[in-house]
Amino acid sequence: MAIRRRQSDYGGIVFKRPSTVLWPTTVEELARTLQSLHARGERVTVRNTAHSTNGQTLTDGPQINVGNIRHVTFDPVAGVVTAGVGASWDAVLKAIDFPRRCLPLFPNNPGQRIHIGGTASVGGVGFYGSRVGGFWNHVRSLKLVTMSGEIVECSPTVEPELFRFSLGGFGRIGVIAEITVGVLPSKPNVLPIILVYFDPDRHQRDFDKAMLDPRFNGVVAQEEHEGLEFNVTNAVGKPFRTIMVLCEVDAGENTDELVKQVRADYGEDLSLYLKGGPKIEGLDLAFEPRVFPKRYLVYFTPREYPLLDGLWNWLRSWMGLRWLLGRKPTVCRPWSDCVVTRAQYPQFMAGMREIIKKLDVGRYLEKSTVLHGLMNIDSTVTFVIKRQSQDPSQFFPLVLDLPNEPQHSLGVAIMPDVPRSELERGLRICRELTDLVYSCEGRRYLYGTHALTREQVEKHYGRSCLNQWQKLKDQNDPKHLLNIGVIEHVDA
Ligand SMILES: Cc1cc2nc3c(=O)[nH]c(=O)nc-3n(C[C@H](O)[C@H](O)[C@H](O)COP(=O)(O)OP(=O)(O)OC[C@H]3O[C@@H](n4cnc5c(N)ncnc54)[C@H](O)[C@@H]3O)c2cc1C
Repeated sequence: MAIRRRQSDYGGIVFKRPSTVLWPTTVEELARTLQSLHARGERVTVRNTAHSTNGQTLTDGPQINVGNIRHVTFDPVAGVVTAGVGASWDAVLKAIDFPRRCLPLFPNNPGQRIHIGGTASVGGVGFYGSRVGGFWNHVRSLKLVTMSGEIVECSPTVEPELFRFSLGGFGRIGVIAEITVGVLPSKPNVLPIILVYFDPDRHQRDFDKAMLDPRFNGVVAQEEHEGLEFNVTNAVGKPFRTIMVLCEVDAGENTDELVKQVRADYGEDLSLYLKGGPKIEGLDLAFEPRVFPKRYLVYFTPREYPLLDGLWNWLRSWMGLRWLLGRKPTVCRPWSDCVVTRAQYPQFMAGMREIIKKLDVGRYLEKSTVLHGLMNIDSTVTFVIKRQSQDPSQFFPLVLDLPNEPQHSLGVAIMPDVPRSELERGLRICRELTDLVYSCEGRRYLYGTHALTREQVEKHYGRSCLNQWQKLKDQNDPKHLLNIGVIEHVDA
């Protein structure tokens, strides 16, 4: 089907109009589509849910939207789920009967609507990464379709090089058409304890300790920045930081002893607990421990809900008015997720705080809405990515594990939503954060907004990795037609 509407992505910064949009529905149809574009020598760009923010899915030429390849089959005996790359995380979770079972790692996005193949193509981090690492560690095998239309089965033992360079590879050497991922039994509830600190050193010490604590299924740190509505740091006169630790619990399990032990072992100033529910959008807090259905954690998305926006959303979704009243995005999302080693984390965080303060962007950062939406806290969030193996043959060179970090890489999500009138300021944050993270020997999560220099691309991947990647590109896309320019400088 030909569609020639102007497109953007979640960033709302770049706009392009594809000449054609092709929607294959099966792996074989995708192979035939690529083969015919290859025969005609036409460049093509792949689009999935378009939750990237740097225009990676946008083109003026032909585009393949893989969002209709969305079959899902669950094999309970083998403990794996096989999904077409257009299947949403929500569809995959339903197929495995979540919350009885779950994937070891799950991302957080609105309604789990992002497609699983998009996550695999860029990386995949989440709350449970402190224990289970990145999503790439749990992909058992995949079907890669090359530009000439060949369907290649890849796994750690079959075509291992293609396998390792497909995950996080932004579709440069082929299109991931189907993936098979491990599934685990899961408990229905979690106990999310939020440890609040006003002392930065104690916070850092306890964050280090929590990452290694076997009681926790997940560990995430959060830090408040100066925002418009309310600033705890100013009110208390000391920095406000948290560590959220997540423990899975069974229905009816008594959590009193666990809470007592955690509070005895950690030096927080205040303990809070998450509460949520179908009617509570976002995050809410309780002073008493309470069982929190894992479903709320998996489907939770931080968002701000001012009354007028809520009314507007309701009106737009009512009786199909969404389409009629659909507006051009007025918000731009120059998002930067930056990954650094444990050793470089304090230096990166200090530099990041300076940039946020200097450019006065605290008020635009991701909001955590608490106390029934009465308060929005502007924050950055640190995800932990535990290295799963020290064996170099099991290292995924294009994802978010850092080669120089043997234990825990730390990913900091800095997600400002700026009005279009402030776009230049937003892009400046991205540039300054980019310079900072590469000066700290880290790397950016490249789904976000960036304009890397050639030197930064070299630092990101390393020369030998780039050479190996290029060799695979030459072999599998000899005419250089697929996703050209999606990562800057590598195709030049
Ligand atoms: C609100 C929000 C929440 C998020 N939360 C998380 C999170 O918790 N954890 C996390 O890790 N990330 C998160 N992300 C980042 C997200 O994973 C990326 O934006 C990812 O790109 C989303 O997949 P997609 O389907 O939207 O990919 P797209 O944006 O459509 O594509 C991204 C890139 O991958 C390529 N591509 C897409 N599909 C394929 C394929 N099948 N084969 C080959 N190449 C392909 C595209 O050409 C493009 O270059 C979040 C993003 C947003 C906006």
